[in-house]
Amino acid sequence: MSVQAALAALPPLREMLSEHGLLADKGLGQHFLLDLNITRKIARLAGPLDGVTVIEVGPGPGGLTRALLEAGARVVAVEKDARFVPLLEAVAEAAPGALRIVLADALTVDEAALADGGPAAIISNLPYNVGAPLLVKWLTGPFRPTAMTLMFQKEVAQRIVAPPGSSAYGRLGILTQATSHAEMVMEAPARAFTPPPKVDSAVVRLTPRADRPEPGLLADLQKVTQAAFGQRRKMLRSSVATLGGADLCAAAGVDPTRRGETLSVDEFLAMARALRR
Ligand code: SAM
Repeated sequence: MSVQAALAALPPLREMLSEHGLLADKGLGQHFLLDLNITRKIARLAGPLDGVTVIEVGPGPGGLTRALLEAGARVVAVEKDARFVPLLEAVAEAAPGALRIVLADALTVDEAALADGGPAAIISNLPYNVGAPLLVKWLTGPFRPTAMTLMFQKEVAQRIVAPPGSSAYGRLGILTQATSHAEMVMEAPARAFTPPPKVDSAVVRLTPRADRPEPGLLADLQKVTQAAFGQRRKMLRSSVATLGGADLCAAAGVDPTRRGETLSVDEFLAMARALRR
């Protein structure tokens, strides 16, 4: 039997959850996608996956995992909740050698070791409570994913892709856009999840920028954006006063009477470069 046929022969996710008496633990951000049409769409949006190593955070009952395996990915699935291991083992049996289950906290795991030192993409329907910290870890950490396709609560997704001057523009979007091309590629209403969360969700696709700043510059970028958005309504000469104020702005070629929220990502990078000098 082909892997695709073996995966298709698995019991529906809802049945597997009730067979194991599993209820969602909201403390772990558990809102499941039980409709395989939706998880297949996320896998398609991630691009060709045949032979690609994918780190999936929070596989839960394995709906997205099944779709990734169907698309030919080799999946390393990092789950914090041990209750899902038997369900994931059934998925692993259907796709021999293609799914490794790692019981761990994604916030502390070493992605390079998970990928055996090779390249890997990250694809996940992220737990809401740790979505933003995980993204910051992947944008700034030593491990550089080849691409990321991530589902967040919609408000976080909007912040990630926000353009300058918009109300959602801020530190998370600038850090993301300084390192990656970011696009929102899909929206999912709360009712698509079991149990439904209070808010809608959206999938963001991130591809690394060729001119991704080195870690030292990224650290300074974070210092500048923290200061600029800590006092969002103030002019830069005041909000970044502790980092050099008007002198820093002059060195970066930025008008010190502007407010941080009007600066482009490249202008923020110029400020970070000036701070580094
Ligand atoms: N991928 C599944 C789906 O789409 O139906 C489940 C997604 S659910 C939104 C988030 C999953 O992340 C849950 O299975 C939860 O147990 C897991 N999780 C929460 N915090 C985690 C952490 N720190 N490290 C790894 N997994 C985590």
